[in-house]
Amino acid sequence: MTVFCQVNECNRIAQRNGLCWAHVRRRSRGSSLSAPIRRVTSPWSTVVDAAIDLADSDSQDDTNYRRRQWRLRKATLRYARSLGYQRKVAR
Ligand SMILES: [Zn+2]
Repeated sequence: MTVFCQVNECNRIAQRNGLCWAHVRRRSRGSSLSAPIRRVTSPWSTVVDAAIDLADSDSQDDTNYRRRQWRLRKATLRYARSLGYQRKVAR
């Protein structure tokens, strides 16, 4: 039997503790469960969003700044992969 995410108006399939993966991640980050989940966007617009978030962040808040830097890094890697670049494997 398929169980759906227990968050109101979320129609994703529950994966853990009655929540979908998006809401599992939100709960573990301590973010709001009720805010709408962003639609899947193109790799490039994810890079742009992450860059804007980093530029807007308070650089005095190291944890937050590092998190946003990391998010930009991940978005950039995803974008590079979408273009066919592959990370070199250290030998
Ligand atoms: Zn959900």
